[in-house]
Amino acid sequence: MYVSTRGNSDLVSASQGIAMGMVPGGGLFVPSVLPKLTIAQMQSMVGQPYQRVAEWILGYYLDDYTKDEIAECVAGAYSKENFPKEDIAPLVKIGEGLYILELWHGPTAAFKDMALQLTPRLLVKAIEKDQSAKEVVILVATSGDTGKAALEGFKNIPGTKIIVFYPVDGVSKVQELQMVTTDGDNTFVVAVDGNFDDCQSGVKEIFADQELIKLLDQGGYQFSSANSINWGRLLPQIVYYFTSYFNLVRDQGISFGDQVNYVVPTGNFGNILAAWYAKNMGLPIGKLICASNENKVLTDFFATGVYNKNRDFVQTNSPSMDILISSNLERFLYGVTGADGPKIAGWMEVLKHTGEFKVDEVTKRKMDEFVVSGYANQEETLQEIKACFGEREYLLDTHTAVALKVYEDYRLSSGDERVTVIDSTANPYKFVASVYGALTSESVLKEDELDLLDKVEALTGVAVHRGLVGLGNKQVMHKMHCAGDKLAESVRSILGL
Ligand SMILES: *Cc1c(COP(=O)(O)O)cnc(C)c1O
Repeated sequence: MYVSTRGNSDLVSASQGIAMGMVPGGGLFVPSVLPKLTIAQMQSMVGQPYQRVAEWILGYYLDDYTKDEIAECVAGAYSKENFPKEDIAPLVKIGEGLYILELWHGPTAAFKDMALQLTPRLLVKAIEKDQSAKEVVILVATSGDTGKAALEGFKNIPGTKIIVFYPVDGVSKVQELQMVTTDGDNTFVVAVDGNFDDCQSGVKEIFADQELIKLLDQGGYQFSSANSINWGRLLPQIVYYFTSYFNLVRDQGISFGDQVNYVVPTGNFGNILAAWYAKNMGLPIGKLICASNENKVLTDFFATGVYNKNRDFVQTNSPSMDILISSNLERFLYGVTGADGPKIAGWMEVLKHTGEFKVDEVTKRKMDEFVVSGYANQEETLQEIKACFGEREYLLDTHTAVALKVYEDYRLSSGDERVTVIDSTANPYKFVASVYGALTSESVLKEDELDLLDKVEALTGVAVHRGLVGLGNKQVMHKMHCAGDKLAESVRSILGL
């Protein structure tokens, strides 16, 4: 069963939590207990295919789904068509005890596919279980990658509509084209005049807008979310921490029980939170290294215990991490405070009104046990791409480059020599203008970004991701715009309410 991080909801089943997306009065659903695995249980899964490990992990959390339902969802999500490579999340060695976990072999070239191919399938099953369920309207706020991954996951799924909001100047040309060329008769894409936080706050307000929800209900609809506030989005991400660890044991001479560090380029704190759940389930993870860009709210939070979003929002070359309000942090805080819902509710209330909150000493010490954090600026990010390609012959995207830089700083300052895995969250071609700039020191206009795909391929010998080939020839299907504070109006007009 699932509870609210703010202690303001009755227990709900997995399917109810997934169908609802978030707690109606604010707050996120979290499991009431975390399954604990023994070394023997985990060891027995080493060498199993990704799909088997996924079924095994999901089985612990989705009590009201049958084994067959889970297997069907997993098979659809991680099919050959979606993930043509034999290895769904390959590990690549780039140094002594240093590995890149490539999470971008899905259809849209970002790690969001790892979850978003599964979330819609879980959601459709959840709706089937609930007799009173209505047509589901998925609302998505995206800093670029979630939007396309969610559109691909939900398009043409019966009983659903999906509306994606993206910040008009906050995404790369490739990301924008990926979204606005999506077909499917249930997809809607809206360019918002604002930044990602405007999109995310707007969507959260819609979820809390009782009047609109009533209107929606009368129209035969209900809202849900494909952002990582939805448990059905977060859960699939736990799986690759297990499979990557298992691969290290199978192929790289790690003994089961040796601690491995994970470095996670972080925005909404979803991906790193999944690693934290894996650690709490018993996986031998050492440090979780939280890597941010210049929007370093989290770096400051882990350094001082003060979360302060009152600062300038910086549009960086790692746009999927340009976030000042990390939604999933409250799930982590719920965990480290020992499930203190009222305390979390208090902090979130203060955050909402003042833009900051401070955790107590005990909580701060708990945070420090698990997480270290750091950030890289835009110049360092580009230098890292160039250096890594020159020295290790591995082409990084900007987000993964932030992670590698933060890791190198951490290793120097801490002397921690443990085996380390860096989550690679996007294929380099998704952010090709920055990658090209890093390699050649030439800058490019946004309009000319698509020409760079072939140029970088010729320059590096690294093949363009299949999801990005021919993007410029696809028809633009979506041309809607809205103001940063008018998301609700936009939803009403799309649904005819
Ligand atoms: C979404 C995204 C991130 C941030 O992940 P969170 O789960 O929000 O912390 C990092 N890199 C890329 C490429 C992304 O698309």
